[in-house]
Amino acid sequence: MSEIIEYERLTDISDIGTQNAEEQLALSLSAHRAALTPREEPDEDAQGNRYCLDCAEVIPPERVKAVQAVRCVICVSKREQFTKLSRSRGGAGQAMSNEIE
Ligand SMILES: [Zn+2]
Repeated sequence: MSEIIEYERLTDISDIGTQNAEEQLALSLSAHRAALTPREEPDEDAQGNRYCLDCAEVIPPERVKAVQAVRCVICVSKREQFTKLSRSRGGAGQAMSNEIE
C-alpha cells in the first residue's frame, strides 16, 4: 500500500517538474525574442512627423498610427529579408552586422 502511494507521489513530482521546465523554456524564449527586438525610439520632430530610422524618409502618418512604425515600409521589408537570409544561413544577425560594418 505504502509503495503505491510513494509511486504516485513520484509521478506527481515529475509531472510538476516537466511543467515547470516547459514554462521556463517559454519564458526564456520570450525573453530571448524581446532581446532580439529592442524597442526603438522613433525619430520624430516637433510637428509629429516621423522619419524612418534607416533612410530618414518621412513615414506616412497613417502607417505610424496603425503600427507605431519607426521605419518606412521599404526598410522594414529589407530588414525582413535580411532576417530570413541570416536565419537560413544559421548565423542570426550575421548579414545585418556585416552590412553595418
Ligand atoms: Zn526607410
